[in-house]
Amino acid sequence: MNIDNFKVMYNENRVKIHDKQKIENSLREILGDGNFSSKAIDLMAYSKDATLLSMNWTIEGKLAALPDYITWPENSSQISQILKLANKEKVPIIPYAEGSSVVGGSVPINGGIIIDMKKFNNILKINDENLTVTVEAGINGMNLERYLNAKGYTSGHIPQSLYTSSLGGWLGHKAAGQFSTKYGKIEDIVLGFEVILPNGEILDFHPIPRNSTGPQFDKLFIGAEGTLGIITKATLKIWPKPEKRALISYSFPNIEDSFAATRTILREHIFPAVIRIYDHSETERHFEHIDKAKDRVMVVFVCEGNSKLVDLEEKITREKCEEHNGIDCGKTPVEHWFETRFRVTETSSMPPYKIVFDTIEVAASWDNAAIIYHNVLKNMDTVKGILMITAHVSHFYPNGVGIYFSWGGVPPREMNEFEFYKKGWDTVIKAVIEAGGSIAHHHGIGINRAHWMKKEWGDAMKYLSKVKELLDPNNILNPGKLYTAIWQRGNP
Ligand SMILES: Cc1cc2nc3c(=O)[nH]c(=O)nc-3n(C[C@H](O)[C@H](O)[C@H](O)COP(=O)(O)OP(=O)(O)OC[C@H]3O[C@@H](n4cnc5c(N)ncnc54)[C@H](O)[C@@H]3O)c2cc1C
Repeated sequence: MNIDNFKVMYNENRVKIHDKQKIENSLREILGDGNFSSKAIDLMAYSKDATLLSMNWTIEGKLAALPDYITWPENSSQISQILKLANKEKVPIIPYAEGSSVVGGSVPINGGIIIDMKKFNNILKINDENLTVTVEAGINGMNLERYLNAKGYTSGHIPQSLYTSSLGGWLGHKAAGQFSTKYGKIEDIVLGFEVILPNGEILDFHPIPRNSTGPQFDKLFIGAEGTLGIITKATLKIWPKPEKRALISYSFPNIEDSFAATRTILREHIFPAVIRIYDHSETERHFEHIDKAKDRVMVVFVCEGNSKLVDLEEKITREKCEEHNGIDCGKTPVEHWFETRFRVTETSSMPPYKIVFDTIEVAASWDNAAIIYHNVLKNMDTVKGILMITAHVSHFYPNGVGIYFSWGGVPPREMNEFEFYKKGWDTVIKAVIEAGGSIAHHHGIGINRAHWMKKEWGDAMKYLSKVKELLDPNNILNPGKLYTAIWQRGNP
């Protein structure tokens, strides 16, 4: 196979490596032959992640980007040596976990060395007294959760991508699972970790429930998308498997009533593990078999934990729903959600028909959540070619929510696919910023949102970039993400 026959979309920023053989020899020396490849088939396998554009390009026979080398290190010392080599030779490094990033976080837009973390898959220790598990960062999510379940625990972190994502990627993108309203997001769950800095130095943040030892320096690496360091292992909170689960669902006449009901539940300091509000369109799509949900807004709840507490949480949840015009729809909708919760057929079924389809999750406070929801729908309806824009709300706090928009359409004649895709993204993000929300709730920044970072962070962005310069003066770690607005330069 001749890789030169493929069009590489993000090619402009590719770093030219002058003596490729020299780097290859050094990498083979560090890793051994079995943990290294520069074969075309492997380079192609790591040319993309789960971003819609890279999937579409793959179907069209194009490559999103092209790395130069693939490595599968087995220990921290090897990663440290690779980073030292990359620094000396100024070669980009892309930490790669399972490539399920939906914002381009793991696309190697500058070429360079892929560090695939899959061999870091050992579960090191469960500490029942402290309720923690220590685990290597490349562990697949489902493998970890199955292991914990078999021992009588759960991590409480169950993203929809559980089967196709890993701990390192969750920490990289600051992920959130479906049960996050009770158990927290990954930054609430992680207690300590080992990280290797761009200069090869290894830092160990001791797992401890809390401390008062200056700023939370360790948190700087969570959500850094592999741009500040490579996390090799972490200690996470775990919980005994819940004694009881209550499955509850109510339908509401409109989004506002569903917001009022859920907000007042959280105000009581009650945290159902799962709360999901589906707007009218998504209710029709997912619950058309539920008569009491017809033309209404469906909300499903899962309360779990100690059975006495669950009974009380269920009682209060029901009271609040009924106070806000909720109609009890029984267990069936929640059972249906459990059966279908890992199903994502839309994402893969639409690209072959040239339909551009994507999802964008954002954060809102309670006082602007409904405004953001309505403004995004209104503004997207004005974009030529948009065929659908719907939303569900799946992460809840006493102070606000994470809203997840799904949209799709066909580019009008005057726009190419990339321009249309970018227009969709920018329209949603602009409406969110104008109404005072945050541009990302849990998928991170990657390529798709980097050009909005200044708007989100204001002057603080200047100092975040300085931290990057300080830790990574040669910009070797995952360049082109978070800090670099490559989309602003036009078509890739
Ligand atoms: C169908 C589907 C459903 C999804 N559902 C959810 C969901 O429910 N919740 C959610 O939060 N996200 C979800 N996502 C998005 C995606 O799964 C997450 O962003 C996930 O955290 C990425 O994990 P990964 O292991 O695939 O990482 P990758 O995509 O390989 O990497 C993600 C980022 O982390 C960096 N990185 C990887 N490993 C390390 C490491 N060891 N140290 C430092 N940086 C590292 C990478 O460089 C990259 O920037 C979904 C995606 C898909 C395709």
